[in-house]
Amino acid sequence: AIVVTGTSGQLGRQIVEKLLERGVPAGDVVATARDTARIADLAERGVRTARLDYTDVQAEGSALSAGDVLVLVSSSEVGQRTAQHRNVVEAAVAAGVARVVYTSTANIDTDLVVAPEHRETEALIEASGLPRTFLRNGWYTENYAPAFAQAQATGAIAAAAADGRVASVERAELAEAAAVVASTEGHEQKAYELVAPTAWTHAELAATFGEVLGREVTYAALDADAYREVLLGAGLDEGTAGFLVTADLNIADGDLAGTGDDLAALLGRAPRTLRETVGTWA
Ligand code: NDP
Repeated sequence: AIVVTGTSGQLGRQIVEKLLERGVPAGDVVATARDTARIADLAERGVRTARLDYTDVQAEGSALSAGDVLVLVSSSEVGQRTAQHRNVVEAAVAAGVARVVYTSTANIDTDLVVAPEHRETEALIEASGLPRTFLRNGWYTENYAPAFAQAQATGAIAAAAADGRVASVERAELAEAAAVVASTEGHEQKAYELVAPTAWTHAELAATFGEVLGREVTYAALDADAYREVLLGAGLDEGTAGFLVTADLNIADGDLAGTGDDLAALLGRAPRTLRETVGTWA
């Protein structure tokens, strides 16, 4: 079977949907989550479901069987991720899974704030000896949906990203690429850099928002402290605000600027452009 983790979340759920769309029988897909009540609708559609909590190794054992392809969707619990992923990989080794597909990060060798946990996880998967594929996922275009709402409301966006470029991609296309890799052969020991073929600046993001909204949208390039104040003023907690400021400084440094063609190759078509994705939000 193809076992997908984190299917109560957005990417994991979309991977299950894309597997079904590709014709993988529902009975050959095991959707897992730490709270299976949240994936009850998938069970109703014939998808096998199982509990898999990254912190609870016992429960993990029962979700995995010999010969499975495990799609490990990286945890959202930043700071705990390496330990959580280690638990899952140990359970995968014990169960004898055939292959691990891990959703890592693009630009993994940069100073990107999220890179260390993904480097650690890739290393422990490598050390496990399991055949593996690393999906080095790019920054989601959807990360900018709040900025789009801001633009709609005020005609302005703010960031501390200066004129750094972002080769963002749509989450659904990353899910589709994951489904392709999980359900076809020839991906063992590969690492795919799943980023867009072109990268945009925040000035271009504002212009794109303006085009879609039919109004002028300006970009306020703030320094880190000013942007942090904006985020705290919008009600974000210190931790989240700090994370977003750091990510913007990474962007300013060019850490998300890397472009590539691996996503197009897996999809068999050009990924959606920024303009196309934003056009679906209006
Ligand atoms: P979501 O936040 O929608 O989903 C995260 C999933 O991880 C949820 O299903 C969540 O379960 C699950 N999870 C967290 N902790 C545990 C645990 N202890 N045991 C089992 N499951 C757990 O994120 P997305 O689906 O959008 O993205 C997938 C991953 O990609 C994220 O988790 C993160 O690692 C990374 N990411 C990448 C971004 C990018 O721009 N490339 C942006 C944001 C995240 P539950 O529903 O129970 O909380």
